[in-house]
Amino acid sequence: MSARLLDGHAVAAAIRDAVDPDVRKFTASAGRPPGLGIVLVGDNPSSEIYVRNKVKAGAETGLWVDLQRLPAGASLDELLALVARLNASDAHDGILVQAPLPEGMGKQAAQRVFDAIDPAKDVDGFHPVNVGRLVQGRPHLVPCTPSGVIVMLEHYGIPIARSRAVVIGRSEIVGKPMAMLLLQRDATVTICHSKTPDLPAVASEADILVAAIGRAGFVTPSFVKPGATVIDVGINRVTDPLTVRDLFDAGSTRLADFERRGAVVVGDVHPKVADIAGSLTPVPGGVGPLTIAVLLRNTVKAAATRIVAV
Ligand code: NAD
Repeated sequence: MSARLLDGHAVAAAIRDAVDPDVRKFTASAGRPPGLGIVLVGDNPSSEIYVRNKVKAGAETGLWVDLQRLPAGASLDELLALVARLNASDAHDGILVQAPLPEGMGKQAAQRVFDAIDPAKDVDGFHPVNVGRLVQGRPHLVPCTPSGVIVMLEHYGIPIARSRAVVIGRSEIVGKPMAMLLLQRDATVTICHSKTPDLPAVASEADILVAAIGRAGFVTPSFVKPGATVIDVGINRVTDPLTVRDLFDAGSTRLADFERRGAVVVGDVHPKVADIAGSLTPVPGGVGPLTIAVLLRNTVKAAATRIVAV
């Protein structure tokens, strides 16, 4: 391996250190801590873990975190009524509804719920007002994962301006806002997706390559220009032994982990990319920790902005 590994835990700690004084300042002046309402519908095991981590990190940072749970069979109207209550509450500065929502709520449910959150409390940055502000280059609350990637690049002094950046994935949550943030920092940006012809040729032009696809080990060395910075956003739980053996060499600790547990979490970037990339985010321990740190930062920002606006 030659690539420098970019340590998400260290960058997340730096974000949280920077947020700390703002939390204290807000709490002293408002007479209450910044408040974050988290809504969890149903019992999706991955969502349970994500939400538990968010509640813990929020509490450790001095926020008031209010976890509101609805049963898997709750209706969309019940969820929208809960969002309306949180919108109207003075103690909730930020609102986050954990995705995915139960399938029974219907295909448009997530969009309707994100649209219903007060844009001033939209700490995930998914509301059309916040998306529009981002696209127009006057961002307020920006999606946490791509914001975290920018902090990571800046923390390690990786130049964005004048770079060629390629983002694989065009989701509303990661790919599109990632491309916007890079563009606003003067990168020349290409967005690729499942219909992009000759993806490795396009990707290998990148100085900064971001993979946000959701397919284990999809980005192989043929996608990567030697020395490029490769950001692996993917989080994929793999249980298929053949896939795992393609990813990890015999005798590696990751393979041993898999053999012990029957599952392993891997990114969208094949481990062999470490032989060619200049810098690489590991999975786990790369982009993942940043998402929660930026969520805390967004909550404090929403709180401070709301108080000023009142
Ligand atoms: P998504 O399913 O909404 O979007 C995936 C994107 O990948 C799509 O735009 C699609 O066009 C593209 N894609 C799919 N197959 C492709 C192919 N064969 N070639 C090229 N492009 C292809 O997923 P998402 O919400 O953007 O998440 C992507 C990954 O990032 C997932 O693994 C998810 O778990 C992970 N994620 C991680 C964090 C974090 O905190 N680290 C946060 C959000 C998402």
